[in-house]
Amino acid sequence: MDATAAAQTDDEEVLDALTLGRRIRQLRIERGMTLEALAAAIGRAPSQLSVIENGRRELRLSEVHRLARALDTEVETLLNPEAPTRRAALEIALERAQRGPLFASLGLAPLPLRKSLSDEAIETILALHGELERLHRQRAATPEEARRANTELRAEQRRRNNYYPELERTARELLEAVGHRGGPLSQRMSAELAAHLGFTLHYVHDLPASTRSVTDRRNGRIYLPIRQPGTDPRSALLQALAAHVLGRPEPQDFGELLRQRVETNYLAGALMVPEASAVELLQSAKKARELSVEDLRDAFAVSYETAAHRFTNLATQHLGIPVHFIKVHSSGAISKAYENDGVLFPADPLGAVEGQPVCRWWSARQVFEIEDRLSPYHQYTDKPVGTYWCTSSIQSTPSGEFSVSVGTRFADVKWFRGRDTIRRLTSGCPDPSCCRTPDAALAERWADQAWPSARLNSSLLAAMPTGTFTGVDRVAVYEFLEAHAPEG
Ligand SMILES: [Zn+2]
Repeated sequence: MDATAAAQTDDEEVLDALTLGRRIRQLRIERGMTLEALAAAIGRAPSQLSVIENGRRELRLSEVHRLARALDTEVETLLNPEAPTRRAALEIALERAQRGPLFASLGLAPLPLRKSLSDEAIETILALHGELERLHRQRAATPEEARRANTELRAEQRRRNNYYPELERTARELLEAVGHRGGPLSQRMSAELAAHLGFTLHYVHDLPASTRSVTDRRNGRIYLPIRQPGTDPRSALLQALAAHVLGRPEPQDFGELLRQRVETNYLAGALMVPEASAVELLQSAKKARELSVEDLRDAFAVSYETAAHRFTNLATQHLGIPVHFIKVHSSGAISKAYENDGVLFPADPLGAVEGQPVCRWWSARQVFEIEDRLSPYHQYTDKPVGTYWCTSSIQSTPSGEFSVSVGTRFADVKWFRGRDTIRRLTSGCPDPSCCRTPDAALAERWADQAWPSARLNSSLLAAMPTGTFTGVDRVAVYEFLEAHAPEG
């Protein structure tokens, strides 16, 4: 029996116990029997019968037979799944609601079922409960919930300085197992890691569009896309291996989904940029006052974003430097952010930063104005919370251009290459007069004459996928696996 079937059976038993209990009480009262009398007739203590009548204990069939005899009725009558009266149906529904997890989460004392409680009152409570449940279910699959989960996760990363020793250890053990001696992880070494974990690699043209890779655990296969130009072929493979090694169950909510994604990305990053050799490089760069994300990128042959991410993992733990990381779409909206250096990200009233527009004067926006996209961009920014130095780089992706920035407080800039830049801007954000209020003269001139047509952000309308949190198309995945599985 699978978990779903088991849960349904449990549910039915609870329902039966409640309905059965009501029916027993109803018949007992109709027969003019006291609790004590009926209890004596079935050889039980009155308190035990009371528990049964309240639907708090499931009955064995032999007990149902005994009760039917004592109440001078048929077993079928007792087992009738319909509530004996409308009132009983309402009371059963209220009991069920009050015993459920949603009610428990509210921290309210259950309402005792007294005769003085009118049917209308119960109906209203049930309607409110139903609406709460509906809103709860709806919210659990919305961008709102995703943002809340993201905010929580970012706070945890901040507490841990974005350093996860258990994942570093896992990466080290895996690399040791395949004899990796430090430095960049070659494509061949990645494939050996897959073999070590019991997988063969299969490059295909028809990978389901909603996936980056598909792992067939039955046949020990990992399916990957035929290499597309501009993407790191190791990255999808290492993500798949990381997910396998971490062995987490399918996420049930956004919190889990995001946590798994962070852990999977972290482990994949720790495999491509192993801690020991990366720290060696960073520490000697710090000593020479030549820290740079580009050097980390080049030494390990990874993308700028992976290098920037990895830098935030190691900078505070191993170099004692608090940092921030921010990935910003060319529209100015934040797509990812992390900080433990007190930089103030724009946030909505609930603390979510994803989708918030970054100050026009920050390095993350200014880098888009620069013609030269090959040289690293550096900038000092005087912010209300202090002066920061940031380095930014632009990367093009299928969903547009993004800037990836790493920054640090003025006090720590002495360790970084690029500190000699003369670019220095002032940001007053979140004060709206900084960059969010149009110039008065321009506003006067254009307020009635401007008719911009908004580009609808498709992700705004797409909301969240139905069915699974991950948006993976199960139909396509199962059909794909079936089509590619080896014979027999
Ligand atoms: Zn601003």
